[in-house]
Amino acid sequence: MPRVSRAVVVEAPEKMILKEFPLPEVGPKDLLLRVEMVSICGSDRLLYKGTHKASSFPKILGHEVVGYVEEIGELAAEAYGVKKGDRVTPEPYQMCGHCENCLGGNYAACQPRKNYGVSFTCDHPPYLFGGYSEYMVILPGSKVHKVEPDVPAEAACLSSLLGNGLRWIRTKAKVRPGESVVIVGAGALGLTTAIAALEVGAFPVVVVGISADEIKFKVAKEFGVDETINLEKENVVERVRELTSGRMADVVVECAGVPASIQLGLELVRTEGRYVLAGVTGGRQVSLVTDTIVNKELQVIGGHGQAWEVEDAVRLLNARKYPIEKLITHRFPLQEAERAMALFMAAPKDCIRVALVP
Ligand SMILES: [Zn+2]
Ligand SMILES: [Zn+2]
Repeated sequence: MPRVSRAVVVEAPEKMILKEFPLPEVGPKDLLLRVEMVSICGSDRLLYKGTHKASSFPKILGHEVVGYVEEIGELAAEAYGVKKGDRVTPEPYQMCGHCENCLGGNYAACQPRKNYGVSFTCDHPPYLFGGYSEYMVILPGSKVHKVEPDVPAEAACLSSLLGNGLRWIRTKAKVRPGESVVIVGAGALGLTTAIAALEVGAFPVVVVGISADEIKFKVAKEFGVDETINLEKENVVERVRELTSGRMADVVVECAGVPASIQLGLELVRTEGRYVLAGVTGGRQVSLVTDTIVNKELQVIGGHGQAWEVEDAVRLLNARKYPIEKLITHRFPLQEAERAMALFMAAPKDCIRVALVP
């Protein structure tokens, strides 16, 4: 085993360099992960630019990871139920385990937030707190899940993303079989939310996007989504009315975080329906016609990050029921992380998610 790990460090806004770090001693409660693949998340883009609320430097990004247990301490092996050589996906959070949020099951809200590749800087040992690296440290109080050998890495690294979809659809909106679900935003989050809706038996499941989303619409169809609507070419309100026999949607999940889509979503929900806001605007103030909420007596629900839903997300990944790997359209070696990020930020039409392969 090498004694060092190469990792990509964001040293300042929009400046990433490849560096070497010593590999840490693995204590009884620690896990050292050999990273197989890491996906570039939308929030990584903001962390890279320095505009994320958790932006600080220097930092190794990456929280959507799959890899192999390179070394593991005795207590960690017991806590996580995994052993050396196992293929695993870690959740993005380290939790304290005793606050109200952790004990109540919403450990993603544990304060102060300790998220791999997001909040940790890499200026102190054991340095390797992010997935844009050959090796990554998993601290005590984390969660890791075993991934079957035949699951494509491109799917396995998206476990937390699928967990988000399950949280919004099942935990937050409590969608029942036969209810109609419209997802506004056809990006990776919208598409994993669509999988969650299909999985709970929603019908119809509809994804709304724009002309640049053609490839995403295609993937949505491959997942089994009933209808896709291009809002630049079609009247979305009328289409949803048709698809729901005039009722409009029982549940709408807004995943785009675009002010115009947030208002559009309000118009797509039926009277007394549920509206989950999951897309973030980056702290912008958004103006809405709030009379719509009043008149329709809507439930507006915030959807943040996954917690226990990742357990089921990994079960779904291991079952290989949906070709989730299709969400990763581009792969780059670690040393080309800057190119990978540039491509992701340019968001060409053929790109959904970009992954790094250390
Ligand atoms: Zn993410
Ligand atoms: Zn806590």
